[in-house]
Formats: sequence, C-alpha cells, structure tokens
Amino acid sequence: MVVIVLSNKIRKYEVEEIKAALDEANLTYYEGSSSKLHLIMVNGSLNQSQTENIRSLKGVTHLIENHAPYPLASRDVKDENTTFEVKGQVIGGDDVNMVAGPCSVESREQIFQTAELLYELGFKFIRGGAYKPRTSPYSFQGLGHEGLKMLREAADAYDLRVVSEVIDYDVLDDVYNYADILQVGSRNMFNYYLLKQLGKIDKPILLKRGMFASIKEWLLAAEYILNGGNDQIILCERGVRTFDQDVRNQMDIAAISLVKELSHLPVWADPSQGSGVKNLIEPLSKASIAAGAHGLMIETHPNPEKALSDGQQSLNFDHFRNLIKNLIPLLEGLGKSFYLSTPNLTTN
Ligand code: PEP
Ligand code: MN
Repeated sequence: MVVIVLSNKIRKYEVEEIKAALDEANLTYYEGSSSKLHLIMVNGSLNQSQTENIRSLKGVTHLIENHAPYPLASRDVKDENTTFEVKGQVIGGDDVNMVAGPCSVESREQIFQTAELLYELGFKFIRGGAYKPRTSPYSFQGLGHEGLKMLREAADAYDLRVVSEVIDYDVLDDVYNYADILQVGSRNMFNYYLLKQLGKIDKPILLKRGMFASIKEWLLAAEYILNGGNDQIILCERGVRTFDQDVRNQMDIAAISLVKELSHLPVWADPSQGSGVKNLIEPLSKASIAAGAHGLMIETHPNPEKALSDGQQSLNFDHFRNLIKNLIPLLEGLGKSFYLSTPNLTTN
C-alpha cells in the first residue's frame, strides 16, 4: 500500500484531480480521514513515473510507501504521541493515569464509597460498568441507566471523570450522556458497526484489545474510529486467551511496548482483566508501567467477596491502597508519578 498524505488546506477539486490521476493509471484506492489527517490509500505499489506524477499534483504533501494497513493509527503519518485532556486531565502524557473502580456499579453505597477512596488518594478517574457484557445470560447484567446515574452522581461529588462501557449501539446515547470516556470491551473490539458510530462522537474511546485479537486487528479497530473522525482513542491491553488454565487471560506486556512503537495513540493496561488473579495485579501493574503504559485500569471493590461480577480479581480498598504505595517507588525510579490532584498521597 502507498499512502498519499494530503495537505490540510487541500481543495475539493484538487482531491478529485488526484483521484482522476489514479483512475487513469488503473490504480484502486480509498480515502481516509480523521479530524486532523486526510489520506488516500493506494493498493499495491506505484512505478516511478506514477510516483513522480502524483507527487507533482497540488495538495499532495508526500507519499509513504510500504505503509502499515492502519495509516491513521500508525506513526508513519503522525510521529508525535497523541495526547488530549478529559476535563483538564491529561491522557497520554509523561505521567500515569489511574482509573479504578468496581467491575460493575452495584449500589449507591458501593460506588460512593469507591469514589471517596479515589478522591482521598487524589485520583481523577472512576470506572464502573452499568451495561455489562457477561459470558452467561444468567449472570448479573448491570444496573443499566440507573447505574450510570449513580456513577455520575458519585463522580461529580468527588470531582472524578467517568469511564463506562458501551456494549451496543442501542445504549450509546445513554453512556454518552453520563460517561467522560466510553469503553469498548474486549468482546466488542470486533464490532465494526459500533466502532464506526464511535468515530462520529466527540468523547474519548477506551478501546480494549479483543481477547483473541492480533495487534494488527486491534490497531485496525482503532483505525475504524479514527476514520470516522474521532481521534481521541486510548488503546488498552487487557490480556489475551492462551492455552493456560491458571490465569483467566495472559497479559501481553510486550504488546504495550510494541503498540507504542507502532502507534501514536495512548496505551493503558488493565492487569485485573489481564490475569483475573488478585495476586498478579501488582506485578503486572509494575510490568505495565515499566513497559511504558500511560495509564492503569484496576478493579477495586469495597467487598470483593460480595461483588456481583469479577470479585475474584477485584482488590479490596486496603489492597488497593497497598498497590498504590508499592507502585510509587517504581514510578519515582522512572522519573514519573501518577497524575494526582493532591501532591501528598496518603496510603495508610
Ligand atoms: C471490564 O472492564 O470490566 C471488562 C468487562 O473488560 P474486558 O472487556 O476487557 O473483558
Ligand atoms: Mn470486569
């Protein structure tokens, strides 16, 4: 594939002239654009005279040969890291975001207690599923709209931003109205129709890796969202399925470093889903930070034994505080810190 990078100021008739030149050379192509980039992807390769001809056309900035199949997500076209803000909080910057909370919103008490804990620690993001994609239809399916309302109220009371999952197009408006970042779960990474719709909205998307998705498939899923016009995307490694029976998923630490190399998008890590094992959350959090993750997503619950979903991998509040305490020296060693509202973290 050859990518023709177009100028931001290109006129419509100039785009048509480029396409006409490609048609004349019997080349097949498709157009792609995010809010910042406008590209024409040409299948196959160009000979020297075709290359020179295209290069000379008005509105063409440059050509990239042997391009990755996900040009908008790749570093070939945009080398600098993508960063953006969610209500004043930087995503994809030099420090590390912490997003924590229960797997599912279960009650007012549960979500307010969690919000209070995060506020005390100085964290700025809370997670909680209201619409849950469960493996069994007999498992708790989430509180839906009521859950989103509780989550938003708790977040507003403690100055937190909300991350919550959108499981289907049907609930997109509802999640959009209450969440600050919309999560696409592992089971939905391949839902291309939903990804296209998320390309049209003006809120960030947390795109979890499908549990059996290759890195190329994951970046192509991001490409769907970018191509729809939404360039606020966070990639989230959450483990993949392997033959192993002792862990729920196998956290792919190498993927964190690799996608950072391949893509300019921010990368977070979810060691809770990534192992499904409480005791592995701390080592995997450390490994994720060391591999360069821009953020961590951790499941914590006031009473994991009673959790309605993912209790086996949720940390109670003491364990969560302890995790944070143990991550600080590693961050310091790397010259980083958590993005916090309070400079002095109390972890007792
Ligand atoms: C979750 O975050 O609770 C969740 C269901 O994640 P995943 O889609 O990665 O399984
Ligand atoms: Mn979960």
